[in-house]
Amino acid sequence: MSSDAREPIDREEHLARLVRSVCEPLDVTVTHFETALPDLVTVGWLQPMNQGWVILVNPSISLAAAEQTVLHEAGHLLLCHGESSEYQEALKLDAEARTDHHRGPWEVEADAMAVALAEFTDRLQTTVAEVLEESAKDASHFP
Ligand SMILES: [Zn+2]
Repeated sequence: MSSDAREPIDREEHLARLVRSVCEPLDVTVTHFETALPDLVTVGWLQPMNQGWVILVNPSISLAAAEQTVLHEAGHLLLCHGESSEYQEALKLDAEARTDHHRGPWEVEADAMAVALAEFTDRLQTTVAEVLEESAKDASHFP
């Protein structure tokens, strides 16, 4: 069966196919993270795995927020933020200060990229407008 067949698939697989549609040939997978914290605010993050990357997504967020999250993380990858020493420094400062503000410019850039990628892909189960709305919400966390 072709990997392009639109058979019913679970949410992780949908998100993985969505992110691959914009990141190829990068090796990126998606998995929900387990959390016992119902009020955990983190929606997702990116980490290296084997020769590629894994995006961890909060399973309790809406489908539009999950699509925005994986496209946001794809944005970080495609914009090579991980290779920027300024971004690494901002991550460190944020971790120390327990804020998000130092890495704001890179986060807002990734949010903008998420919308551009949403327009580019044909694999959304929501709409570009919904992804845009989630990106605007996310960007508002980084004054
Ligand atoms: Zn980010």
